[in-house]
Amino acid sequence: MRDKFNRDINYLRVSVTDRCNLHCTYCRPKEGISLKGHEDILRYEEIIRVICVAVKMGLIKVRLTGGEPLVRRGFVDFLASLKGINGLMDISLTTNGILLEEFAERIYQAGVRRINISLDSLNKDKYARITNGGDLNAVLRGIAKTEEAGFSPIKINTVAIKGFNDDEVLAFARLAADKPFQVRFIELMPLGQANLAHGKDYLPAAELMRSISAHFELEQIADKKNKSDGPAKIYKIKGGRGEIGFINPVSSHFCATCNRLRLTADGKLLLCLLNKEEIDLKKALRENCSDAELEKLIREAILLKPKQHDMTCTDMHLKKCHREMSAIGG
Ligand code: SAM
Repeated sequence: MRDKFNRDINYLRVSVTDRCNLHCTYCRPKEGISLKGHEDILRYEEIIRVICVAVKMGLIKVRLTGGEPLVRRGFVDFLASLKGINGLMDISLTTNGILLEEFAERIYQAGVRRINISLDSLNKDKYARITNGGDLNAVLRGIAKTEEAGFSPIKINTVAIKGFNDDEVLAFARLAADKPFQVRFIELMPLGQANLAHGKDYLPAAELMRSISAHFELEQIADKKNKSDGPAKIYKIKGGRGEIGFINPVSSHFCATCNRLRLTADGKLLLCLLNKEEIDLKKALRENCSDAELEKLIREAILLKPKQHDMTCTDMHLKKCHREMSAIGG
């Protein structure tokens, strides 16, 4: 599936629900978002159909996300059914980890090995503050369960926020030194809620890198060994068990190698985080479209994929995404 810029589009991020059991301040508006009704959300069979058609076109990698994927009923059975799709080589999951203690073992049994867990603070009170009431200990128990179950890699995704977790950068690095985790710092993107105070909250990855390398010896892992890590720059901590990663969508975007599309819970294909264009697959699915028609829509979406976005530009229209991140899936 080649786009106009000769990029091979082989990765789909699928949001299975817009509901979440946390309300991270930069991700969901305080007053809450209007949640979709049951009928507005793609059924699992519909998601599977989209994936099957896309796999025939060249899709090899799917990441399930949300909202929070683990809050949707029947999610683990859905995961297990993806394993049977011939040609789908990589199925991974992004979760906030709150329910992992309960689900880790079953997710592993369903065939998923790669898991990303979002964790923005290692301090109980700060975690509760940024997530609007989340329980850090539940996440830590969940992470321990993924380790026990045998997941690999286990990636911890930490959004870097100035004045909030910049004082914890070394604690996160220590976690990566002590445990076989890949701790990845992600630059805060100026989308939705995070756009409001982005100038104040944004922390460039280069600053984190400076603080960490003053205390730990880092050795960059060659890109070719690093294929599954997408846009992250990964470093081994000398003498440590894990790795540190930096994902810099703001300070140095990776659009030239972007290989992804996003499918929202309400069945829209998104071409880029900052692009308003949406291709409505749900409508087509509910009108009993054929596989050939679905394929045509997916191809149309790929051809509409823009060359790049610019999160550093000062144009507020461009910066302000039409959807909150919680309705995109990260
Ligand atoms: N509930 C799941 C979770 O917490 O991982 C999946 C959905 S969540 C929207 C996916 C990821 O997007 C999380 O790691 C979250 O921190 C990240 N995210 C949300 N808003 C963001 C922003 N403005 N900039 C960078 N990352 C963001």
